[in-house]
Amino acid sequence: MPHYDAIIVGAGVTGLASAFHIKNENPDMSVCLIEKERTYAQGNTGRSAAGYRDTFTSEMNHVLSSSSIEFYKHVQNDLGFDLGMDSCGYLFLLGEKNKFSSSLEKVMKRAKGRILSGNQIENMGINLKPDRNVADLMKLPDIESAFLGENCGIIEPDLICSFYDSELRKMGVDMKYGTVVKKINLAPVTRLDYPGEPFLWQDKTVSSLDTSAGEMSADTYVMCTDVWTTDLMSPIGVDSHIRPKKRQIFQVSGAEISTFVGKRFDGSPGTCPFMILPSSSIYLRPEPKSKSFWISTADEIGRPYSYEDDPQPEKEFYELGMLPVAQEYLPQLKNSKVTSSWAGHYAYNTIDKTHYIFRAINTIVATGTSGSGIMKGDSAGRVVASLLNGKDTATTYTGKKINVEDLGIKHRKVEIEELVI
Ligand SMILES: Cc1cc2nc3c(=O)[nH]c(=O)nc-3n(C[C@H](O)[C@H](O)[C@H](O)COP(=O)(O)OP(=O)(O)OC[C@H]3O[C@@H](n4cnc5c(N)ncnc54)[C@H](O)[C@@H]3O)c2cc1C
Repeated sequence: MPHYDAIIVGAGVTGLASAFHIKNENPDMSVCLIEKERTYAQGNTGRSAAGYRDTFTSEMNHVLSSSSIEFYKHVQNDLGFDLGMDSCGYLFLLGEKNKFSSSLEKVMKRAKGRILSGNQIENMGINLKPDRNVADLMKLPDIESAFLGENCGIIEPDLICSFYDSELRKMGVDMKYGTVVKKINLAPVTRLDYPGEPFLWQDKTVSSLDTSAGEMSADTYVMCTDVWTTDLMSPIGVDSHIRPKKRQIFQVSGAEISTFVGKRFDGSPGTCPFMILPSSSIYLRPEPKSKSFWISTADEIGRPYSYEDDPQPEKEFYELGMLPVAQEYLPQLKNSKVTSSWAGHYAYNTIDKTHYIFRAINTIVATGTSGSGIMKGDSAGRVVASLLNGKDTATTYTGKKINVEDLGIKHRKVEIEELVI
């Protein structure tokens, strides 16, 4: 059976960044990356809204995201590897009693940004005052101002993955796409070769993985398997601490949308900001290539925590839920049509909405990305590498120190994140 120093499972942004930093810090290690799909970014990484922001209420999330954003900028600007990064900004549209208002006060203390007035917002083509009857029925506030997060924008996650994948190949990592991990096998640390091992009283270790390409073993296993982590880890008695929730995106096109998407917040040519409406957590992500919007929401009450093998977007959810709200603020949507749609899952840490990165025997688990795993991906990979190397702290691209245990289970020290979009 092939044996490696480390096997990483999952070729989404978390697994690829983890493999990259593990190999970078340990050039002599034999590293293998296993992914069940035929290429990278086929899980939730490829289904995301692909926005990035440093506008988080918790210090941990601010550090994880702002450092990853700087690393991605370095890859694009200094290394010349296009990641499709466009710093169009995140525009939080604020009404009276907006649920984000108090959270944004915390955000504004550390994230770079500016307040836009009602006039400036109106000049963009956004309607500040929804129709009174509709507004009363759907509880839509008037827009009074907005916060424009400036270290925010859009990116192409498949290109981030492509960057890591090409680097991993250059570094000699064994990339095994199209290989499914079916089962994690346990064995006693000290084998007696007695039938029925490991017994209750024996110390246990993960001895190998049963995969569709045969059995494989490693000294350390790293599970970057997002919403699939629970099914993989539960049988060996390790809790992933996450719950999956379905999330869906509708791509919407039209002539007026095309004009809107092609202008920056100040009217100059470019890309309009990623916009968060003051109601129902609805957001509109500009897609500059097709000059369309991707519209979505992180709906909470009413949406079950459950996993679907092949999650499908729900047309009625858009037509009866998101569109009636969104078109009150963006009348451009009235003559639009849905040109594409897809769905995935958030791997929710239901307590503080931040990554879990912890060790259970000789396995490291990195999950719980809670809807912001791309913008924090590089830093998460560095924390995984530090944990594997037995270090207490991880150093991010910008030189910030993260106490590795803070993201673990036993000594976790993370504030509750208030701004999940
Ligand atoms: C609709 C939507 C919008 C989002 N918007 C944003 C956003 O704007 N910005 C942002 O930062 N984040 C966003 N996210 C969240 C982001 O997509 C995730 O946090 C991130 O992709 C998680 O990356 P990952 O590598 O941990 O997981 P994944 O990308 O899901 O990767 C896990 C991989 O593990 C593989 N795998 C699982 N089981 C096995 C097995 N048994 N054997 C082998 N391989 C296996 C899977 O095939 C998959 O490729 C969004 C998510 C969704 C669904």
